[in-house]
Amino acid sequence: MGVSQVDEKTSAYKPLANPGFLDGPFRRSSQQTPRLLTPGPMALSDVVKQAMLKDLGSRGSEFIQLTEDVCSMLVEIAHGVGAHEPVLIQGSGTFAVEASIGTFCRKSGRVLVIVNGIYGERAVSILKRHGIPHKTVVFAANTRPDLGVIRQKLQTSPDVTHMFVVCCETTTGILNPLAELCALARNHGVTTIVDAMSSFGGHRIDVIRDHVDILISSGNKCVEAPPGIAFVIARRSLLEQAGGNNRSYCLDLHDQWVGFQRTGEWRSTPPTHVLQALHTALRTLRFETVAARRKRYERIRDRITSGMVALGFVPVVAHKDRSAVCIALTHPDWRGREEQEFARYCDALHAAGLHIYAKMHAQTASFRIGCIGRIQDHWIDDLLQVSKRHMAIEEADRL
Ligand SMILES: *Cc1c(COP(=O)(O)O)cnc(C)c1O
Repeated sequence: MGVSQVDEKTSAYKPLANPGFLDGPFRRSSQQTPRLLTPGPMALSDVVKQAMLKDLGSRGSEFIQLTEDVCSMLVEIAHGVGAHEPVLIQGSGTFAVEASIGTFCRKSGRVLVIVNGIYGERAVSILKRHGIPHKTVVFAANTRPDLGVIRQKLQTSPDVTHMFVVCCETTTGILNPLAELCALARNHGVTTIVDAMSSFGGHRIDVIRDHVDILISSGNKCVEAPPGIAFVIARRSLLEQAGGNNRSYCLDLHDQWVGFQRTGEWRSTPPTHVLQALHTALRTLRFETVAARRKRYERIRDRITSGMVALGFVPVVAHKDRSAVCIALTHPDWRGREEQEFARYCDALHAAGLHIYAKMHAQTASFRIGCIGRIQDHWIDDLLQVSKRHMAIEEADRL
């Protein structure tokens, strides 16, 4: 494959002398089944899985160096070198969302949450639990937030200190207008917290250009690493001021950051094998580039979408608003009994060793097919063939 040019000299860590592994198992997941077409966790390349075979101590110099490398690659991919600092945290992505809210938001402030799907709703649940004042602006899950409405909300709410926005709302795969939303916040002196869980690594995000003060993501979506490590890339000045805010010990990003700075070590046992896999996954991403990865996902998404549309499925998000990460589909013939129809469809796919995200979103009556990870072309052929057969059988049953 054509590996794009990366300027190794500007990199803060030692690059691979020979990126030859990109030609081989990097592309493949040799596993035959189950074949995951889910928006995280997903099919990993063999080379990422093989990176987990080594047992490392968590306080040794090799592990400390790997942690440092992971951190510098993350800030580099986010285009935040200089102004932003990375903080790794054990756990799934939601751990980093809760860590960010607990570390950066205060009871004396107010958070404006932009909601157009379940991950915006989840941030609201976390804020409630923490007793942090907040307001929400809610939009339908298949539409982008209306900038005029948000501008007005910010104008009439001088008490708002933070804005929480989801970059790609994985509920439907809609890509929200991140730069525009964050620019609005910036104009009102509001700090931006961005849930970029499912877009970091698959869509270009430039934390400086896009005015992202606090970016949240994890290894197990477009970074193509196994679940277990989440991270926050935050403006350094915000981290410096955040000491003593968080009531949670484990999720205190300030303390975790100070710990990394002092000793290079994690405060409590890190997922040592997952970190090694994340390291390999980030190196792979740097060589593939975010732009090429996005193209790869878009090709998968477009193949799946056109094949499914031919079978009568309908995407719930307009083409121009779609991310590369997943496609949400509904079927007009399923109306009124979506749950049962979808369960039968999932069963048919499972029987063929294919797994899509096995949960419907009620508001849009849609289900999602993930386009990320090492999805092979013939998996898509099989998906479409099994889907076609299933729909034909269902139709024959109805007659
Ligand atoms: C997946 C996802 C999350 C939650 O991440 P977990 O790893 O499941 O905890 C949050 N926000 C968005 C946008 C996501 O796609």
